[in-house]
Amino acid sequence: MVRALHFVQRLRLFELLPFKAPTRPFTDCFGGLEKVEAVRQIFGERTEEVLRNLRVEFTWMRGYMRVSNVDGHLIVSSYYVNNGDKVDVYLDLIHELVHVKQFIEGKKLFDSDYSYAERPTEVQAYQHAVEEARRLGLSDERICKYLKTEWMSNESLKQLARVLKVKCPH
Ligand SMILES: [Zn+2]
Repeated sequence: MVRALHFVQRLRLFELLPFKAPTRPFTDCFGGLEKVEAVRQIFGERTEEVLRNLRVEFTWMRGYMRVSNVDGHLIVSSYYVNNGDKVDVYLDLIHELVHVKQFIEGKKLFDSDYSYAERPTEVQAYQHAVEEARRLGLSDERICKYLKTEWMSNESLKQLARVLKVKCPH
């Protein structure tokens, strides 16, 4: 908890943007996250090892972040990390790390048999992020704001919030 807050407070983009290397080790970019309980819950004893081997690609394209379904590396919008709400960025990192774990386990990250809000891999990632949000003391209203993105329909948001048991204001 304290470590999580400490991490959130320090989160800012690094003068060291990767003009030379296309990807950087996760631990160079988001060092300290390996000590956060919510992250350790995902990877257990393998936390350091997984994060050391995880590569991060920064892109100037708008958007948030996602995990490559080809090799499991993390793709992050530099704009988002620099300008997004720090708590949102932190929760997104938690969410994406669940996807990293799923990728390692051989799960299909973008299973088109499901809608976004119902996809088991998404629900699991959101559940973990919401749990952490609650641990940080975020209200349901604030969590709902976090869940809402411009590409998600109101219907999907409602559906997702229902699954996650987050009370969104009407
Ligand atoms: Zn996701």
